[in-house]
Amino acid sequence: MKIALVAHDRLKPAFVAWVRKHEAVFAQHQMVATGTTGTQIKLACPALDIMLVKSGPLGGDQQIGAMIAEGTVDALIFMADPLTPMPHDVDVKALVRLSTLYNIPMACNEATADLVAGWLARMASH
Ligand code: PGA
Repeated sequence: MKIALVAHDRLKPAFVAWVRKHEAVFAQHQMVATGTTGTQIKLACPALDIMLVKSGPLGGDQQIGAMIAEGTVDALIFMADPLTPMPHDVDVKALVRLSTLYNIPMACNEATADLVAGWLARMASH
């Protein structure tokens, strides 16, 4: 499975800690992440296989959206900040829209990300 990981700045520390907590699960899958999110995860979890695209505001959300449209991303974990205005708000909405359109699992908060992590753990054991 290929999982896309994106977190907005205010939520990055908690998200990196969350990925670290689930590192054994992610070690069984491939990841793609926006530039800054992925760089921070790689620092915390150097063993993980993470492909980096551009930073979100520079087109990274669009790149991941294109992968979803092409069918090469199987799930999205997207820690979008609901309290901070974003210069790339249209890209954020497009990413959510494409995940909805292509019907891939999409977690936008930690409670749902926990469910996705459980599903990924089960997928890895098959
Ligand atoms: P970043 O992008 O990981 O490069 O910060 C995330 C985003 O803002 O979409």
